[in-house]
Amino acid sequence: MKLIGASAHETLHITIRFHRHLRPLLCPAHRQDGLVDLKVKPWASIKDVVESLQVPHPEVGQLLVYGRPVGFSYQAHEEDLIEVLPLVPPVDPCTPSLLRPEVLTGIRFIVDANVARLGALLRMAGLDTAYLPNLNDTNIAAMAEREGRILLSRDRGLLKRKIVTHGHLVRSQQPEVQLAEIVHLYGLKDLLQPFSRCMQCNGLLALVEKSTILDRLEPLTRKYYKTFYLCPSCDKIYWSGSHKEGMNRILATLKNTMKNAETRHALKEHKS
Ligand SMILES: [Zn+2]
Repeated sequence: MKLIGASAHETLHITIRFHRHLRPLLCPAHRQDGLVDLKVKPWASIKDVVESLQVPHPEVGQLLVYGRPVGFSYQAHEEDLIEVLPLVPPVDPCTPSLLRPEVLTGIRFIVDANVARLGALLRMAGLDTAYLPNLNDTNIAAMAEREGRILLSRDRGLLKRKIVTHGHLVRSQQPEVQLAEIVHLYGLKDLLQPFSRCMQCNGLLALVEKSTILDRLEPLTRKYYKTFYLCPSCDKIYWSGSHKEGMNRILATLKNTMKNAETRHALKEHKS
């Protein structure tokens, strides 16, 4: 509620408690217990307040004021205790929530340059992923909104843009672990379809007769492989050997990550 007649100097004292999964994003002084006491302007939205503490709004799964869910536009009252909860896997961007009434019509991603390798791996796993290296941040955010894509980035400033409704601040630094992070967060383990998308341009691959591309194959590839795929968009040729080693490594990383996540969950259940 906006305070009528509040002066420019008027402030409210509130306390925000961040869930432990969000604490690593806070400044070092607040990471330990996730508790932040601060003064805010009466007209500040909770979204802006949370983002001023370096947590991009797409990372927030739920906002509670004394246990009551509120939206991003909520304006604090004196001595409010506000809890900020993270996204909980598996995140379903196709189901509306209080924080995200705008739903997506399917699982599609867009990545920026700092997670470009992740983008290629998502495509390798068959997930629709846009990546245009020449787009600036404004255009990346606009494309995410226009095409209903989840924005993946390590750039908090990009994710803080208001136009971004669905997104994730990628935590891992290694591309294969990043892929496991995304598959786990959005529950995509059973949706992976290797050999269905072009890693280079995101086009859908089609089976192609070996006889029609023989002149484009290296001698050893021609000798040892039978099944080939062609990208109709960029004309790149794929065969099982071109993906197999990478996919096996990725699936092994994924398996370990999922196992660790399940173990953590089981321990948490046991303790509570
Ligand atoms: Zn292609």
